[in-house]
Parts: sequence; C-alpha cells; structure tokens
Amino acid sequence: MIIGNPIIIQCPVCNTNYTKTSILSGNTFGGHFWSDGSFFAPMLPDQVVFTRCTECNTIFNISNSPYHEALNYEDADGLPTVEHLSKSELLEAIEKKIYINTNEEIYLRKRLWQKLNNHPWKDEMPSTFAISPEYRQNAEALINLLDKSNEDEILIIAELHRNLGNFNECIVLINKLFENRKEERILQIENACKKKINGTLQYK
Ligand SMILES: [Zn+2]
Repeated sequence: MIIGNPIIIQCPVCNTNYTKTSILSGNTFGGHFWSDGSFFAPMLPDQVVFTRCTECNTIFNISNSPYHEALNYEDADGLPTVEHLSKSELLEAIEKKIYINTNEEIYLRKRLWQKLNNHPWKDEMPSTFAISPEYRQNAEALINLLDKSNEDEILIIAELHRNLGNFNECIVLINKLFENRKEERILQIENACKKKINGTLQYK
C-alpha cells in the first residue's frame, strides 16, 4: 500500500477541517469478501465517502467538498479524521434525502444494507435471519434503483431477493446470469438459495 500526503477536507457548511489518508495504491491481497459487496482487505482500507461533521452535524460527500493536499504531515497534525457514517446516520441521510443523484442514493442504501447484515467470519456458516421493516424497505428501494440490464447489478438484485426470502426471484435471476457466466460466487448464492438460507455469505 502506498500512502501520499494527508488530504485536508473542509465541511462545506461550517468550514471545520478534517483529514483523510491518501491511498495512492493498494490491493485486495489476503482480503475477505462477502455477498453484499463488503470486504476486509488489510492492504486496501475501506475509503470514507460520506461523513458527518462533528461540529455542525452536516452529513456530506467528501468528494463534493473543498479539499487540498497537506504539504507535510504537520499540516494535518491534530485534525480529526473523517469517519464512516453509523447505521443511524445512514438512516438519517436517506430519510432527509441528502443525496444529489441516484448514484449517491444507491451508495448510501448499499452501505445501510451492509451495516444491517451479519458477516460470517472464516468457517462460520451463514445464518437465516428475520427481516425488520427498515431492512425490507431499504432492500426493496435498492432493488428498484439498480440497473436490471447490468450483470453485476443483477447479481446484487438476486442477493437482495435472497436476503428478503424471495428465493424464487433469486433463482430466476441466477439462471439468467448462468447463461453467460458460471462463477463460484454465483454458485454459492444459488446453493444458499436452494437451502433457503437468507443470510450474507462469505465468498470462498
Ligand atoms: Zn460542519
């Protein structure tokens, strides 16, 4: 992993400064990947996109905010780092419609989906879980927003249907994907679907 000078980001409302590590290059070697798109990779930190200003409580997308590269480490010394949104902050961001386009809404809803999922670690088996109203509402909104002509997004829609217990809908989409690709991860989702397991899987 190659790290550059820290980036200094300004809250667009109150101008409070924050800092963020600049990753110039990383890789997913030794990483763990789950069926909801979340991952843990020691050499590729999960980059913050949306954050909340701890001074004025504004939730903002850091890539739409004023920023500059620190000239040296001392410039950023002592500044708070940007943090990921918590579950309640994601719910608030969606509720208040702070997103400016569909891509931002999809991003926030995916993060919320991942936050609400259980992630089995190593040999731990995926579990079957009960769907809360907030889980269902978010998953259904995400299904409606995703592009049904894009194979990667079809796979996400299939996975959302499996989470919701719509196993038949999931299998129909999996079979459609099998026409062009037969990957291990798609087989894993199909297998869980046949066993009527709705919990998130760790890809082998
Ligand atoms: Zn602020």
